[in-house]
Amino acid sequence: MSKVIPKLFRINTGSCNGCDVEFVATAFVDKFQLDTLGIELVSDVKDANLLVITGPLSARSESFLKNALGKLKKPFVVVGIGTCSVSCGIFRDSYAINGPIDKFVEVDVNIAGCPPRPQSIAEGIAKGVKVLEQKMHGEATPKAIDTIFKDFSAPESFRGRMSLNEENCTACRTCETVCPSNAIEISSTDDGWFVHKIWHNSCCFCGNCAYFCPTDAIFATNSFDTAKLQSEKFSDVNIGYIDYQKCSCCGEMYMPPSQGLLNKSYIYNNVSKLNERICSKCRKEANFKRMYA
Ligand code: SF4
Ligand code: SF4
Ligand code: SF4
Repeated sequence: MSKVIPKLFRINTGSCNGCDVEFVATAFVDKFQLDTLGIELVSDVKDANLLVITGPLSARSESFLKNALGKLKKPFVVVGIGTCSVSCGIFRDSYAINGPIDKFVEVDVNIAGCPPRPQSIAEGIAKGVKVLEQKMHGEATPKAIDTIFKDFSAPESFRGRMSLNEENCTACRTCETVCPSNAIEISSTDDGWFVHKIWHNSCCFCGNCAYFCPTDAIFATNSFDTAKLQSEKFSDVNIGYIDYQKCSCCGEMYMPPSQGLLNKSYIYNNVSKLNERICSKCRKEANFKRMYA
């Protein structure tokens, strides 16, 4: 088998430059091991077979991208760096944005993050090189590629992928409202559940949801595992289920206060009575009778 030489060309399609700076930092720091992939950086897109794209694809950059796509060596691989390139991130729905990039080009690997951690960028580009090898050898692209740089780790304090503790969630929708990237969606089912989804391909790791959550139900982890094949783009979702309860007094379905909320609201009181399985209307009536009857 002939050796594949990945020749990398980078295009900025309206990025804030955060992802570009992070990419350069990744390329020049030894510990991220990009040099082990045998990549050549090229200055002319005609020589490239590994296209790296940053930015949400502003209207002005669309023709530039299309022009570059027509000149690439075939077969080629496309890697999108940053939540902007994957889903437009905080710029989604802007009149000046025509992306995300997969509306115009077959993307192979997405690296979410705003910007992504260098380890994620290294992992995503390594996956891109694997896909390029498969394409050059005529192999079918696999559904998943194992983690390549296994010895990477992030500090505990690193703000990475968000997660949810369903036990503490009251489905109040605060996180959905404050999320600038539209990465959180809360819906209800006919059989009495709220479904809480965090779309990792849209999250920009801002931490707003965790800051405003009244019960600490949503929180950042230090996971930077954001380099995914395009086939995984819409399945990289954190799903939590929050259930309604039947009021033991009137029988209506209602959302009980979570233990996390009770602990925050009644720190000096015994909350056991308040935590009875009755809805807020029945609880108000019971309290009124207890005080004034
Ligand atoms: S993903 Fe974030 S850091 Fe990267 S270009 Fe977009 S806004 Fe900038
Ligand atoms: S995670 Fe927090 S803010 Fe979001 S719906 Fe649940 S309780 Fe509300
Ligand atoms: S950290 Fe939370 S608020 Fe910020 S983009 Fe991600 S899901 Fe939305």
